[in-house]
Amino acid sequence: MIELRTPAEIDAMRPAGRFVAEVLATLRDETKVGTNLLHLDRRAHEMIRAAGAESCYIDYHPSFGASPFGKVLCTSVNDAVLHGLPHDYTLRDGDLVSLDFAASVDGWVADSAVSFVVGTARDEDLALIDTTQRALAAAIENATVGKKIGDISAAIAAVAHAEGLSINTDFGGHGVGRTMHGDPHVANDGKAGRGYPLRPGLVVALEPWFLHTTDRLVTDPDGWTLRSADGSRGSHSEHTVAITPDGPIVLTDRSFLGVD
Ligand code: MG
Repeated sequence: MIELRTPAEIDAMRPAGRFVAEVLATLRDETKVGTNLLHLDRRAHEMIRAAGAESCYIDYHPSFGASPFGKVLCTSVNDAVLHGLPHDYTLRDGDLVSLDFAASVDGWVADSAVSFVVGTARDEDLALIDTTQRALAAAIENATVGKKIGDISAAIAAVAHAEGLSINTDFGGHGVGRTMHGDPHVANDGKAGRGYPLRPGLVVALEPWFLHTTDRLVTDPDGWTLRSADGSRGSHSEHTVAITPDGPIVLTDRSFLGVD
């Protein structure tokens, strides 16, 4: 069921969005060559406790999960792109890191992800990150009243296809509200002009993610981490966006913190 939020409810979601933005900006700033993924999870947990927020991940146990997630942050490195379960791994020069974080503040959820390289970056990795960022920007640009979900999906796909990337539609964007995952699903490929009409008060997480040379994923033995089937690297960009008559509001915007 698709739920629409009143303007007052969208205002009430702003602290969650700001908190998620601050956590990702802080973690991005602190993540270096030599940082351990378990340290990043602990830092996120400290910030959750200090803010009186709640993790959306720690007890998360969907049908496809082997057990509750047990951590508060997704850390996906190199050929891992989604749902990366933090483990004892110390980042190396040139690693491509995706951090995905969702938390609830005052009972409202926000969800966002950022990808970046630690140390010396390969040009192809920077280009892939740039592509997911541009796809996210195109998605947000189309998150306006009068358009349809398919317009967002088609805008994301157009950016990917221009770079010759293939797209996996199993995992994509979703409604966000009192819980992390609601209707509608926002696939990263679709037909313009099709699907649910974008109405004022719809709040969705938009999340393009792409792999260099495949659209196929395999699940790690940890039961969570999704890796590319061919070992190529992935990138993931996500924001929680409210659709309003005055245009999209990016609730998890980090730009006021000086981080894109
Ligand atoms: Mg997310």
